Amino acid sequence: MIRTQGLRYQYPNGPLLAFPDVEVPQGAVLLLSGPSGCGKSTWLALVAALMAPTAGALVVADQILDALKSVAADAWRARAIGFLPQKLHLSTALSVYQNLAMAQWAAGQSEDAARILAALQTLGVDELAQRKPGQLSGGQAQRVALARAVLLQPRVILADEPTASLDDASAAQAVGLLLDTARQQGATLVIATHDARVAGLLAPDINGQIGIQPSWLLRLSL
Ligand code: ADP
Ligand code: MG
Repeated sequence: MIRTQGLRYQYPNGPLLAFPDVEVPQGAVLLLSGPSGCGKSTWLALVAALMAPTAGALVVADQILDALKSVAADAWRARAIGFLPQKLHLSTALSVYQNLAMAQWAAGQSEDAARILAALQTLGVDELAQRKPGQLSGGQAQRVALARAVLLQPRVILADEPTASLDDASAAQAVGLLLDTARQQGATLVIATHDARVAGLLAPDINGQIGIQPSWLLRLSL
């Protein structure tokens, strides 16, 4: 669940961004579309409590975000938010397995090998567990990053430009993986993209397979 009201963000030496109000029910899918520079990544950072809004109210996964101090925000984010950033930020010195273990440590949990391998298996990359990120293809690395993002079964999954630089078949696969994963976990899914292909890829899946009301596929034009 994501609810925003009067959300604004002023970059210190940049634009003032004003965002439309949204109310996204738990388990719904939000397509955040718009051209480069309109504020999609900024919106994701606000929803993930990576930055505090200049103005406005924000409730994400039942948490009122302005009530969070930064240390508490880190712990909350590790549990509640699954972030698939545009740059995947996998640690190159660590194995795939260790990259996922780090997500458990960051959330204050002890390492759970069975759960890590299950998450990798769900995304079809369990055989790559001992590889380093530098030994993965782009598609494999994205699957690993998604496995890490959803390892702790977050209530909200945020994906920033997940189809950037992918061909049509890989883009369809990436969107399909996000939808399947969100549906399995009952998570709210936000896909932020300037890629016009994504709306077409999302719509039939949502109406046909998940049975979500068409009105839940919110399209924000910023
Ligand atoms: P999008 O993800 O839709 O491409 P962003 O949220 O990245 O857009 O950026 C929105 C606007 O804020 C752009 O005009 C961008 O130049 C500006 N911006 C982003 N990050 C910064 C920053 N750190 N400092 C100043 N301006 C920024
Ligand atoms: Mg962006």
